[in-house]
Formats: sequence, structure tokens, C-alpha cells
Amino acid sequence: MSERVEKVLASFAERYGDATGVTVVRAPGRVNIIGEHTDYNGGFVMPIAIERDIMIACRPNGSMQVDLYSVDFGESNGFSLDNIRFNQSCQWVNYPQGVAHCLLEKGFDLKGFDGVVQGNVPLASGLSSSAACEVASALAFKAMSGFDIGDTDLALLCQRAENTFVGVNCGIMDQYVSVFAQPGCAVFLDCKDLRHEDVPLGTKEATFVVCNTMVKRELSGSEYNTRRQQCEEAAKAMDAALLRDVSPETFEAECGKLPEDVRKRARHVISEDERTLRAVAAFKAGDLAAAGKEMNDSHDSLRDDYEVSCRELDIMVDIARGLPGTYGARMTGAGFGGCTVNLVAADKADAFCAEIAKRYKAETGLNPMVLSTEPCGGAGRVETR
Ligand code: ADP
Ligand code: MG
Repeated sequence: MSERVEKVLASFAERYGDATGVTVVRAPGRVNIIGEHTDYNGGFVMPIAIERDIMIACRPNGSMQVDLYSVDFGESNGFSLDNIRFNQSCQWVNYPQGVAHCLLEKGFDLKGFDGVVQGNVPLASGLSSSAACEVASALAFKAMSGFDIGDTDLALLCQRAENTFVGVNCGIMDQYVSVFAQPGCAVFLDCKDLRHEDVPLGTKEATFVVCNTMVKRELSGSEYNTRRQQCEEAAKAMDAALLRDVSPETFEAECGKLPEDVRKRARHVISEDERTLRAVAAFKAGDLAAAGKEMNDSHDSLRDDYEVSCRELDIMVDIARGLPGTYGARMTGAGFGGCTVNLVAADKADAFCAEIAKRYKAETGLNPMVLSTEPCGGAGRVETR
């Protein structure tokens, strides 16, 4: 049993008297390796689950009440399964509440429980602590109430909780990878038909390093909506339901009729799908240099055509590309701040982490969070003995 599981069980015992008969579930955060701003265009994404997760220790309490304690926020909160309402004053409880709400909506019979929530996914950093929270909550309800639900339905239900209950318009990628990830592999997901393939990543030779710029621009929400509209406009002008359905050849032939900014947005999305397919082939062939090149090209396209990068992301990427052992570096997530993801030779990763932190601080005055991670397995029950 890991030290973290022991701690979660200890805080459960402290709060509820003892920890006999307690079940522990976990769900990881994620980082997207390539395939950015493609999900809502029905395209391809390739995320991994990271070595950071949210755990919930739980035990049925024989009532309709869900009583939760958050170790990280140092506060308890609860709700009755008979009366679920959005909580204005306690944000974290809305994730388990939202999941419960959507499960009840689908007709699942839920039972109350006592629970302790503890996580180490950095919050609001683009590593999807919210999806980890939702998926862990869904697994807790499943374990406590004893119903059956398929993995894809579980991921979709968690997305629905975030969209409709929490009120964040996210795609399916985050919840999907948190559920389905296999150790050592990326989840190559087709966002149109929700089918995926595990892609082994050759992680003996290389590791992934996530660097948080520590900036988040306010305009990211409105710009995100504008990009989505521009993509819809482009698809419509080329007689397609989704940009995913427009081939590079069709785009070349037809892009003349698009206004310049819309043309650039579509060019990013269509070329990003191609890059993602090439990156998958490169990882499968163990060609890390080729995979890294696709990651580099992805960043340049996001910066120049999709225009969702920012000064700090570009600085972080430029520093990374100049360091020994870097195969590829790009921004990841929606943009305008947040994180970069880097494919780095395993034996150079420690030096990379130290050096990028130092140089980024020197250039921007900001202290970045730097995190090296293997591709991890997805959500599930945790061994407690
Ligand atoms: P991101 O998904 O990028 O990390 P979000 O703003 O979507 O950022 O979600 C962050 C929210 O998820 C937090 O404000 C909190 O409500 C919830 N959350 C994340 N981690 C934890 C945790 N360890 N315990 C309780 N709630 C958490
Ligand atoms: Mg989130």
C-alpha cells in the first residue's frame, strides 16, 4: 500500500472513527501529447494519464446522505441524494454532486456514504483535476451502490456532469483518458466515433515533462468560443458537418473562399489531424525524433494559424527546444497560458527539468511548475492491504 493510500485511510479513520471496510478509488489527471483543438471538430487527440490523481476513500453509511471531507481544502461538506443543488459557496463538492445528479437522472439507485477526498493533480493548471474528481466520484458511487455501467458511458456521464451541472463546456477527452488509459501508453482517440487505440510510447528511452507557465489569460474563454465558431463556419463553407471530414486536398482546393482568419483556423485543425496520425505512426515505430517533430510543428501551427499561444508559452517552448535531449516541445491545452508538454530523452530529463525552470524564471520572473511523468494507467480501485 502506498504512503498516500495510508494517509487517506488515516484521515478517514480520524474523521469517522475507524477505517474498517473502506474502499479506495482513484482517477488520474492528463496531458495531451498532440491533437489540440481537434476534439470539438470530431478529430483525433492523443492524451496520456499522468502520475497525479485524486483518491476517494469511502464506506456506505446506510443513509441517503453523502458526507465528504476534502483533505486538500481542509473542509467537509455533504449533500442529500434526495435534494441535489448546485453549491455556490463550496466549488469542489459540485463535482461529486454533479456526478450523483447525472447518475440519478439515468435511473441508477444510489446509496449514501462517508468519504475522504485527497488529490495531487495541480488545480486549474490544465491537467484536468476536474475530470479526475468526476471520474473518482463516479467510481465511488459505483462501489458504494453496486450498479453496473460501461466505461464509455461512465466517461460520458462525467463529461455531462461537468457540462450541465458544473457549467464548463469541456469535450470528452479528459474523462475518457482518465477512465481508459493503460500504463506506458497514450490513448489515441477518435472524437467522432469515440473509439480508441492504446499507443505504446517507448517510455524506456523518453519521458514526458509538463511545464506550467503559471499564467492564464482572462480572454481564453471568449477566444475559445470564437475559435469554435470559426471552425463551424469553415466546415459549413466546405459542405462538411465537421472539419474532421475535410481532407487536406479538399481544403487546398476550396480554402480560397474562406476569409483569411477562418482559413488559418481551418488549416490548423486539418493539418493537426494529419500530424496526430503521423505522430501515432512514429510512436508505434519507436521513432521519437519523428514524433517530436510533429509536436514541434503542432506548436508552430497553434501559434501562427490558430493563434492561441502567448509570449510565455513561446518562451517555454523555445527554451525547451534548445536543451539537450529534447525531441519535441509544444503548448498543450486550450492555450493563452497553461502548460507545455515536452518529449525528453529519459537520461536527460532531470537536467532538463532543472534547466528549464532556471531559464524560464530568468526570462519571465515567474517560477514554473515542472513535472516529469510516465504515461500511467486509468482510474480504478486501489489495493488497501
Ligand atoms: P483543471 O481541470 O484544469 O485542473 P478546473 O477549474 O476545471 O481546473 O477544476 C478545478 C476544480 O476541481 C477545483 O477548483 C476543485 O473544485 C476541484 N478539485 C480539483 N482537485 C481537487 C481535490 N484534490 N480535492 C477536491 N476538489 C478538487
Ligand atoms: Mg477542468
